[in-house]
Amino acid sequence: MKKIAYAICMMLAISFVFNTTLSKAAGKKPTHYVGLHDRLLHFTEVRVIDSDMKVPLDEIAKVLYIPVEQRSNMTYIRKRGIEISYNEVTQQTIKDGVETSWAPIVNVDGKLFISVKYIAREIGFKTEYIKKLQTLRIYRDDYKHMSHADYEKKIQQLISDEKKPAVSQAKPGKKSAVNVYLTFDDGPNQFTTVNNATLKKYNAQGSFFFLGKHMKNNEDIVKAVASAGHYIGTHSMTHDKDLVYESAQAFIDEMNEGTKLILQMTGQDAKLLRVPYGSKPHVTPAMKQQLNKYNYKMWDWDVDSNDWKYTDEEADKIAKNVRTGVEKAYKSGDRDIIILLHDRSQTSKALPQIIEWLQQEGYTIKAYEPTEHIIQNFLRDTTL
Ligand SMILES: [Zn+2]
Repeated sequence: MKKIAYAICMMLAISFVFNTTLSKAAGKKPTHYVGLHDRLLHFTEVRVIDSDMKVPLDEIAKVLYIPVEQRSNMTYIRKRGIEISYNEVTQQTIKDGVETSWAPIVNVDGKLFISVKYIAREIGFKTEYIKKLQTLRIYRDDYKHMSHADYEKKIQQLISDEKKPAVSQAKPGKKSAVNVYLTFDDGPNQFTTVNNATLKKYNAQGSFFFLGKHMKNNEDIVKAVASAGHYIGTHSMTHDKDLVYESAQAFIDEMNEGTKLILQMTGQDAKLLRVPYGSKPHVTPAMKQQLNKYNYKMWDWDVDSNDWKYTDEEADKIAKNVRTGVEKAYKSGDRDIIILLHDRSQTSKALPQIIEWLQQEGYTIKAYEPTEHIIQNFLRDTTL
């Protein structure tokens, strides 16, 4: 009993120390950073506890694509055959059934923080600490990444941009750390060709979600988009709500067929898809299971341009919707902003001003990168 009382005292003492450092840190710019491959990650908080960097568990799980499950007092994370759990009552971290000798997971004010080094290494990443910049870089050798020396140079710039006080914030520097993904649904068609040319003109990359029924008649367009380096994923075969969502089998058949066409035409095995009309409320648990079974990822979007509502003459309104949506997402802390557009006439009219604005503001426009998957779905499912 004495041991337990002692443990409780220690916990209280430790949580007191955490609380005081936490309130001191509130509102301050981070002093320590975490990177993944060539990126600098953004967490609501990076804490150093016993010389070990810890970040919110749910946030790093999202970045590293680790499913988190909560059941009564337990939080579970599972990846690559290992299971790590945290017991709220005993405050112990358990790996594959064995209590760890230290505390890689800690509860600070009801929020779980996990050691970056620990989680990275447990799921097969390497880590490199760049002392000068107080940055812990996590990486895997089987993913393409720049050398540590080049990375240091890159993030030195990013960090110094971020440290500038809010009043003199140089927009281009800060926003270059924000990725914006232009996504185009419902092609391929003649406007895909226009959008492809516009992207080329501005040296920007995009992601296209094609319909199988249109791919069959426009193989040349599919090939042109692929060879320009854009990402192509399926958006179903028919786009018909009644057909696509008729059953889990019908749903997955539509996705598999579309993906097969992409593979045949481009040689790319495209695992990211976008379902017609958005995942919510159409994608049922049974359909989601099918997506998992075939290792698909699914994107909805952060910013809806609502382009389909407008005429060619109203292209300005589409661009305005994008500007408003991106600014709102940026202010909310989103650092990977996905914009929904379509291969339509009015959208191809709006695209040049959309790209010009994003580039002026300094955002990084990117195509989807399978090796650095971002979770964005309305189901809030971390396995997709
Ligand atoms: Zn669509």
